[in-house]
Amino acid sequence: MKINKNFDNLVPNYLFADVARKTAEYAAANPDKKIIRLGIGDVTLPLAPVVVEAMKKGAEELGHKETFKGYPEYEGYDFIREAISGYYKSFGVNVSADEIFVSDGAKSDCGNIGDIFSQDNTVLVTDPVYPVYVDSNIMAGRKIIYAACNEENGFTAMPDEDVKADIIYLCSPNNPTGAAFTYDQLKAWVDYANKNDAVILYDAAYEAFITDDLPRSIYAVEGARTCAIELCSLSKTAGFTGTRCGYTIIPKELERDGHNLYATWYRRQATKFNGVSYPVQCAAAAVFSEEGQRQIRDNIAYYQENARIIASALDELGIYYTGGKNSPYIWLKCPNGMGSWEFFDLLLKKANVVGTPGEGFGENGAGYFRLTSFGDRENTVEAVERIKKLLS
Ligand code: PLP
Repeated sequence: MKINKNFDNLVPNYLFADVARKTAEYAAANPDKKIIRLGIGDVTLPLAPVVVEAMKKGAEELGHKETFKGYPEYEGYDFIREAISGYYKSFGVNVSADEIFVSDGAKSDCGNIGDIFSQDNTVLVTDPVYPVYVDSNIMAGRKIIYAACNEENGFTAMPDEDVKADIIYLCSPNNPTGAAFTYDQLKAWVDYANKNDAVILYDAAYEAFITDDLPRSIYAVEGARTCAIELCSLSKTAGFTGTRCGYTIIPKELERDGHNLYATWYRRQATKFNGVSYPVQCAAAAVFSEEGQRQIRDNIAYYQENARIIASALDELGIYYTGGKNSPYIWLKCPNGMGSWEFFDLLLKKANVVGTPGEGFGENGAGYFRLTSFGDRENTVEAVERIKKLLS
């Protein structure tokens, strides 16, 4: 037998392991120091009470013959798909419940969606990049090309008519850079995709952090329904990193190569996925209720205030950054021309603050650094004070 040799082409990424190792070594050698972690991409606030209640109620129903449920529908129960559709309507975007697939999260969908596309397609990702887009396509044996994000374009790469891409991953607000596309920027990508017979895979995992007048969904952009699939997650919106729930939207009119992509993805899911558990779907639907929205908004506002505190310190220090607004991530230029790891070491040793070196997210991340707002307020404030003291 032979294994999938494409796996040999994966580049080992030791970023988070190296961050953890260096932090642990420093902590062991300096047990008296309080280390503050602003590198984590996981949330820290608990689930909203209304979400927990809905999950408990769902579990209770499974324990009684009259309300017991077996296999769910592959695409999710009507009640949650209707709730998601209503949520989109609340910000002016029409997505019908029967275009939505509920899943166990956006990471799975980002990786699995490739099943419906030929291996011969060229994939375009922006660099720096959420590594899942790259690694899942290396595993599938696809050619990957990179669109550079840098200070000149404000870390929002735009399409190049001289470059031919078939599958385009866009993430806005972006992980790791926090940069978010404007309507006109997204429209340029939509126009490119429609003209070039490409499909955009639009990752909206951080849409709930948008506060400015920017698109919350690619379907806010004219023409997107004939070229884009949207992937979203409740992980950062509602603290579902451990609960697991997300969704993918495929407009019914989206066709490529003589195939309807909704029908193709439905066939794929029906073969390889048996749906999300009932209590989790109940919990997820509660996120979209009026009370659920109020409660999750409180948590998001907490993280947004952390982001604002970090960003305003960088403003004071005159350090270039993207994100901080419309995003839980702050992507900053390492001061004095330092490399990402050099800055990591400096922050760790002199301020006892841990962040994430940008070069782990791609070539264009060299010399940049990611901080996150998912920590608690007190630690965020203290970390920022230490950074200000160190750099001013
Ligand atoms: N997409 C992006 C851009 C992310 O940053 C993340 C999580 O960090 C995900 C998707 C994964 O989301 P989920 O927890 O739903 O799998």
